[in-house]
Amino acid sequence: MLNKDGVPSLDQIKTCFPNLESLQKPKAIIECYEEIPCNPCSTSCPFKAIYIGPNINKRPQVDFNKCTGCGVCVYSCPGLAISVAQLVGKEVRFKISYEFLPLPQVGEIWTAINRSGQMIGKAKIEKVTLTKVQDKTALIQVLVDSSLLYDFITVGKKI
Ligand code: SF4
Ligand code: SF4
Repeated sequence: MLNKDGVPSLDQIKTCFPNLESLQKPKAIIECYEEIPCNPCSTSCPFKAIYIGPNINKRPQVDFNKCTGCGVCVYSCPGLAISVAQLVGKEVRFKISYEFLPLPQVGEIWTAINRSGQMIGKAKIEKVTLTKVQDKTALIQVLVDSSLLYDFITVGKKI
């Protein structure tokens, strides 16, 4: 439970996702559950797809019609609270932020990890981006089984 161990319930997680039809295209998934004074997600989005409004404490809202899944908000969020998800056949393509070293390499298989830190499957590394503008937050693109849509959160180690 979120307020006891920091792990959101499935119902809470689902509130952050658009419907499955929208997920045929990449969409930002913002898991920012608390009201905090923060807004880099909103100010960084090139498509003005994230709304916080005049009260910076309000939780960010994504306009899935405007979101292109570009991933800029993913590495701009200091709380590492954003990913991008897209259904691709029987798999899900995620873009996640990653701040550990060594970075995964394209083509490697890493463990898929859930919000409780448990291994739940495999993640194929498709792309790794770390430009100067990203500072030290890499953007990792992975493919996982679609059954992990609401479970997957990050990668753990190389298999
Ligand atoms: S993924 Fe790109 S378009 Fe979508 S909300 Fe984030 S920055 Fe905006
Ligand atoms: S930048 Fe991240 S932590 Fe800050 S409001 Fe946006 S989603 Fe929440």
